[in-house]
Amino acid sequence: MVGSFTRRGGVLLLPVAYFAVLLSPCCHMSRPTRIGLYAGSFDPVTLGHQDIIRRGAKLVDRLIVSVGINPDKRPLFTPPERVELLQRVLSDLPNVEVDCFEGLTVDHVQRRGAQVMLRGIRTVSDIEAEFTMALTNRTLSPEVETVFLMASEKYSHISSTLIKQIALMGGQGSLIHLEQFVPDPVIEALLGKLRK
Ligand code: ADP
Repeated sequence: MVGSFTRRGGVLLLPVAYFAVLLSPCCHMSRPTRIGLYAGSFDPVTLGHQDIIRRGAKLVDRLIVSVGINPDKRPLFTPPERVELLQRVLSDLPNVEVDCFEGLTVDHVQRRGAQVMLRGIRTVSDIEAEFTMALTNRTLSPEVETVFLMASEKYSHISSTLIKQIALMGGQGSLIHLEQFVPDPVIEALLGKLRK
């Protein structure tokens, strides 16, 4: 019978089972930590970004969400504001951390020891730009693999640019609509920007 434990069998099997239990955590620990990095402007973080982050965090041991600082752009939120919003929105995910960086994304990926770069794809037009970027990044840093996650259907039309347009042009009246696009802390933050 499966699972029966005879005296003779017990004597033979017990040491084997003992060592198997003893060794299994060691084998587990020796596996290298798989680190993913998801970079973007996140100006501000949207429900679309959040969805990619939550799904991506299940694929790696650690996920670093990196706010890119582009000196040529004039963002609505400063880098520390964008980092703080992401931290608030993702505070329930223990394997996710947020940082910010300047310069090439691949350099930052290497600095942080990540092996995987995560990207989100919304539309067919996204694919072309993302494909070019992924091929360039592979040339610059062949050991880093780009992984694309398809946007969930309900978020595929959302972009940070759209959010800013709705908030800035629609004013206070747009807040009810924004709930469908951004997490709650971002609505408060957008309100703050509108008051200025
Ligand atoms: P945006 O294009 O909205 O300014 P980012 O530059 O911050 O966004 O984008 C970072 C990454 O997130 C990119 O890979 C982008 O394709 C992806 N992304 C942005 N919005 C969404 C969305 N609604 N669903 C899935 N992925 C998205």
